[in-house]
Amino acid sequence: MIARPRRGPISRTGSFSKLGARGMSLSLHSRQVETRGPLLLVHGGAWDIPDAALESHREGLQSVLEAGTAAVQEEAEALAGVTTATRALEAHGAFNAGYGAMLNQDGAAELDAGVMTGATLDYGAVMAAQRLEHPVGVARRLLETGEGRVRMLVGEGAERFADATGTELVPNETLVHPRERRRHERIRAQAEANHPSRSFRPGGADPQGRDTVGAVMRDATGTLAAATSTGGTPFKPPGRVGDSPLPGAGFYADAHVAVSTTGWGEAIAAVGLARSVRERVRAGDSAEAAARASLSRMHEQVRAPDGGGATGGCIVVTPEEAAVAFTTPRMARAWTDGTDARQRL
Ligand code: ASP
Repeated sequence: MIARPRRGPISRTGSFSKLGARGMSLSLHSRQVETRGPLLLVHGGAWDIPDAALESHREGLQSVLEAGTAAVQEEAEALAGVTTATRALEAHGAFNAGYGAMLNQDGAAELDAGVMTGATLDYGAVMAAQRLEHPVGVARRLLETGEGRVRMLVGEGAERFADATGTELVPNETLVHPRERRRHERIRAQAEANHPSRSFRPGGADPQGRDTVGAVMRDATGTLAAATSTGGTPFKPPGRVGDSPLPGAGFYADAHVAVSTTGWGEAIAAVGLARSVRERVRAGDSAEAAARASLSRMHEQVRAPDGGGATGGCIVVTPEEAAVAFTTPRMARAWTDGTDARQRL
């Protein structure tokens, strides 16, 4: 039976502003929706998504909205909903997660993912895994079976855990999209100019690009959950881990807030972006105000070698609100409450 979600009053605010920070201008985009009842929000990365990539991103968001809407209608628990949505994004190929992930310096896909439930604060994360088709699924298995003894596993350890708990390991080649093989060749030719902060700013799109994915959900019981999955930064050294699989940085969920972030991972980890949003919400900020303030502060505090402030984006859900905010030129995002499903780029 299809349950109709309860709908509460919805009000929307959209805003855009340029903030001065140490002489640098920052474009900050955000939107908030006040909602009650089940809601799933996803993102497919914040960066200067080029026009040529918009169509594949739309298709990718559409495929996750179909899976996500079904999950919401079936009254999936928040943890199951964010896992389902993130798996759909990992499978699509348009994004920097699962199949289609960006390649490391060796030309291999090397994946990170983390997932957390606000019901118990249990989380699981895998990092630098090269043979997992769905790293978020393995992270969830770790969440469910680790019993607090182990929460994060790296590389071969993550793969051994996956194998031992019934996940088939795949050859790395099956995760490599031809588009990423070509990108790898282009970046290799100009590796010296490559800095991970660059592609989150205007004009940094090619040959770089980012499309980390994530999801946050509030289910019918009001429980919150968050998940994030990525191939990391383009041409990263083997073994590099960013923010995405780190609780409090790339994802976070408790009884009050669920957050998934994207952007320059070294900066996001430095400021604990997801946890920063959470603390501001607990201090009384709306979800949107908390996201805006946290992103602005990261931009002020963390600088790339060329002086540019750190940029990124996040999606947030609380018991009564949902918000998106980003300081990059574009951010792919979508949401569904089971009856109304939308996407934006
Ligand atoms: N935050 C990710 C990382 O640094 C990249 C991204 O969000 O696109 O690994």
